[in-house]
Amino acid sequence: MHLLIILHNSYKIHEVDHIDKFIKAELPNPNIHPQLYERVKSFMIHNPCGLLNPASPCMVDGKCSKQYPKDYQQATEFNRSGWPLYQRSENGSSFIQNQIEIDNRWVVPYNPFLLMKFNAHINVEACCSIHAIKYLYKYIHKGHDSALIRLQQNGTTMYDEIQNYVDTRYVSSCEATYRIQSQKLLDRSHVIQRLPVHLPDEQSVVFAAGQEEMALARAAIRKTKLIGWFELNQINSTARSLKYAEVPHFFTWSQSNHCWNSRQNHHSSLTRLYVVSPRHAERFALRLLLLNVKGATSFEFLRTFNGILYPSFQEAARKRGLLSSDEEIEECLQEAVAIETPKICDPFLHICLFLMEQKFCRMQTTFG
Ligand SMILES: [Zn+2]
Repeated sequence: MHLLIILHNSYKIHEVDHIDKFIKAELPNPNIHPQLYERVKSFMIHNPCGLLNPASPCMVDGKCSKQYPKDYQQATEFNRSGWPLYQRSENGSSFIQNQIEIDNRWVVPYNPFLLMKFNAHINVEACCSIHAIKYLYKYIHKGHDSALIRLQQNGTTMYDEIQNYVDTRYVSSCEATYRIQSQKLLDRSHVIQRLPVHLPDEQSVVFAAGQEEMALARAAIRKTKLIGWFELNQINSTARSLKYAEVPHFFTWSQSNHCWNSRQNHHSSLTRLYVVSPRHAERFALRLLLLNVKGATSFEFLRTFNGILYPSFQEAARKRGLLSSDEEIEECLQEAVAIETPKICDPFLHICLFLMEQKFCRMQTTFG
């Protein structure tokens, strides 16, 4: 663990004396502190490196990356970059480890109290300056924070996680005003309407296995939005000036009564007719008619042009000139691009077939 402790202003370490009070980088006197001496020997000695052990993991480019052994230092002082140089007396204090003499130059800075308390390697450094970037930023930000610790004096209340959550929840003045006035926090800006495109008696019916007849009976009395539009046009003159896709802007669909009612609210609405592939030529033609014909009152109405009832939607669309221009084809491909990108060649192929068929029809009419 790399732990950065930020002390209260009045406890911050600015003086050399403070450092000496908390951090040692020397072997303690074995006669006065025998246990501490043993622990420093066990945990706080930098493993001999350099010429003594060139294979040590701390060695980078033939030098110790942690700059051990350090120089002897008569008294603690700050070097120019703000790093403390801890006192390392040349007092002859040393011991032998693996036939190597270890003295104060090999001691890793430690705090005697922490070493005695936890009986483990705990390197303590004073980072008094912003120049100690490595300790301030690099080490402690190596990974995400794993723990957040708060220290409290005895007698104060226990840490209350719930209260802490409540206390730290921030409500801005804007949000507060909004809530006090009981404004809606969520709303819907647009109503999205999808309009079915189906041939006479070919609306989709959803049924569960074994309940087909029940579903069929239900579908017989339930009108689709398309049938509902025909009925609306029969009774409402305003609606007759609208195309199928424009209806939801002025009318809302009642799910329970299966009819279009005048729109009461002012929601903007987005409308989309279900996409039909040119492969389904009749339905494709029906969709073109629905996109272009206003106020239709029946399927027959859509098949009628200039007073003539045509036998198919394709024929009616062709007579209206909806299938002769490339515009419709381009629109169809644009839609395919937006909706079925991986299968774009599919509608393209059907358009080609469709155009060839049309040519053939025209040739038939011309030459009998
Ligand atoms: Zn080293």
